[in-house]
Amino acid sequence: MSMQLDAKLKVEGTRFRLFAQSRYLKSFSEPEIVYVSLPPGAVKAGPEDERMFVIDAIGKKPYDRFGPQPQWDGRRHPPVEPDANGHFDYVDINSREFSCTTMYATVRRVLDIWEDYFKRPIEWAFQMYFERLELIPSIEWDNAQSGFGFLEFGFGRLPNGGIDHQSPYCQNFDVLAHELGHSIIFSEVGTPDTEASATDEYGGFHESCGDLVAIVASLHFDSVVNHILKHSSGNLFTVNELDRLGELPDGREIRVAFNYERMSTVSAEPHDLSLPLTGAIFDIFVGRYQAELVARGLITLDLALRSTHGQAPNSALPQIQAEFDQAYKGHEEGFKEALLSARDYLGRLLATAWDGLSANYLSYYKVGLALLKADRRLTGGANRDNIRANFAWREISLAHPVHLMRRLSETGMITPRRPYANPFMPEAVEHCSLAHRPLRDSSAM
Ligand SMILES: [Zn+2]
Repeated sequence: MSMQLDAKLKVEGTRFRLFAQSRYLKSFSEPEIVYVSLPPGAVKAGPEDERMFVIDAIGKKPYDRFGPQPQWDGRRHPPVEPDANGHFDYVDINSREFSCTTMYATVRRVLDIWEDYFKRPIEWAFQMYFERLELIPSIEWDNAQSGFGFLEFGFGRLPNGGIDHQSPYCQNFDVLAHELGHSIIFSEVGTPDTEASATDEYGGFHESCGDLVAIVASLHFDSVVNHILKHSSGNLFTVNELDRLGELPDGREIRVAFNYERMSTVSAEPHDLSLPLTGAIFDIFVGRYQAELVARGLITLDLALRSTHGQAPNSALPQIQAEFDQAYKGHEEGFKEALLSARDYLGRLLATAWDGLSANYLSYYKVGLALLKADRRLTGGANRDNIRANFAWREISLAHPVHLMRRLSETGMITPRRPYANPFMPEAVEHCSLAHRPLRDSSAM
């Protein structure tokens, strides 16, 4: 959300605490206060509000096609109460109740951020079945899944098998934000009408959007922004060694943004296929950030051009970094303002572009066209060269082999690939197949 609205919520919102990254990372071991958009008193015991509710279920197994169907009406722990002033940041971070408050606060915060970029509410895709999103923070399971009308989370897996109770998925901001990203795309872009109109690139686009939703949301944490800037001295383009990002690569989302994949280097598997698109869009954001730095007189145009992705030979990188080190020192706040301004541009750009996209026969090329159109609306086309150059570098074009394969399969010249997802299975985090239909058999409803 915009910097202005964020400042307003700090006065008017309801307080929670959560961890920006894994709490076991040294740089992020302290929880941060976040404010959700509802005023104190509007978030009820649960926590719950008019869009979502937490159920701390007892003895629940993961939803599947055979057991009880969403939403859960079995046994549960008592709802978590707000304090006398309506806030929830009093909850002990080592208690069971913290899982409930942190899951609610993460999902609510990510929804707040993206509704602000859309400038309107994001309606749930499942609203013909359920009024509100069900959040189940903790079940005895070494996985997590998002499905039609619910998110339910277990724990990580130990290296030798078994449940790792030290890593509850519900406290992983990136994972939750990514899953909500899928929900946003189901709401705003929808699902293909037929199997034939469901392209491989629709699957890749979905995964890419999940990552981008999480990245933009993560960039609302001071600790994450400060960490990235400090470890790179503000040089985001030539971060070719992820070690330089310190502990952040342990989180998937930021890590996947710094990738060098092109359409010719990835397979049709949705996560793999998502990488060129995520990389292209993240680099558009970095290009915008560099332009902000130049406009603010913090770096020269010459340095911006030389440090642009893919421009400089490896031998020139130490010199470029030295120039950034010098430019950054003493101007940390200016760099941060430029980054936050570029973040808000990216959020508005994506929301505007997604608004105009159809799920049928979706291609990355069409995503590029939608971004150009969105940029024209937002800035009069100030970033068109940036968008074109980054899509070209990633080899996203009309004539890409993935499209060709799709067209050939439609004409029967090659065997069609498997559909992008089994529509009746919810998304398991580790396997991440897309879910867009209710779990229950629709004939039984
Ligand atoms: Zn996913």
